[in-house]
Amino acid sequence: MKRLSIAIDGPAGAGKSSVAKILARRMGYTYLDTGAMYRAVTYESLRRGLADDAAIVAMAKALDMTVAPGEGHMRVFLGGEEVTAHLRTPEVSAAVSRVSAIPDVRAVMVALQRKLSAEGGTVLDGRDIGTVVLPHADVKIFLTASPHTRAVRRYKEMGGREAGLTVEAIEEEIRTRDHLDSTRAVSPLVPAADAVYLDNSNLTLEETAEAIMAICRKKAGEEA
Ligand code: C5P
Repeated sequence: MKRLSIAIDGPAGAGKSSVAKILARRMGYTYLDTGAMYRAVTYESLRRGLADDAAIVAMAKALDMTVAPGEGHMRVFLGGEEVTAHLRTPEVSAAVSRVSAIPDVRAVMVALQRKLSAEGGTVLDGRDIGTVVLPHADVKIFLTASPHTRAVRRYKEMGGREAGLTVEAIEEEIRTRDHLDSTRAVSPLVPAADAVYLDNSNLTLEETAEAIMAICRKKAGEEA
């Protein structure tokens, strides 16, 4: 059966990475978390104290970034050093939309993402996979849910009250990030014209994965 390339785009907290991981495991595919790649560039910019775009671009161009499958999150290495544990801090989350809006940073990341998914048999999740990175992906899904549903999911995922979080603060952060990601000039978060739009506010993760699997099976059958 043909090994498909699967693009899953959508806003923060829609469950893209959880669903992408389930699909990759069941189909024996490779999962590529493109958000983690932008987070790694952001982490490195913060670590080096880089403020202006030109310096961030120069750093990104010279960055030796490699990725590997992980138990939970996809693992990311910079110059051989694993940075996975540093990518989801509030500092990185707050700065990532700005860094990922820099056109030349995107060009470097998109080239790497295309290289890593050239063979097919890959599930990519992000914001611009179906529109820019893989415009010819076999299956394109735009996965979303209401901002409140997404905030509650993130709240639970990140440890809830024990971690000192509130749903309101996360919802605010998510709304800000959605706005920045959807209105930026380069590769804004918009559904590809040929994407399947899936609102999973009332679906479990398992039901979401099953709905996408059904689309993939149909596509693989057509291509076989
Ligand atoms: O998916 P995740 O929430 O980890 O993505 C972090 C940020 O990286 C997004 O808010 C967005 O600014 C950026 N991003 C992007 N393009 C992608 C993936 C992520 O601009 N393909």
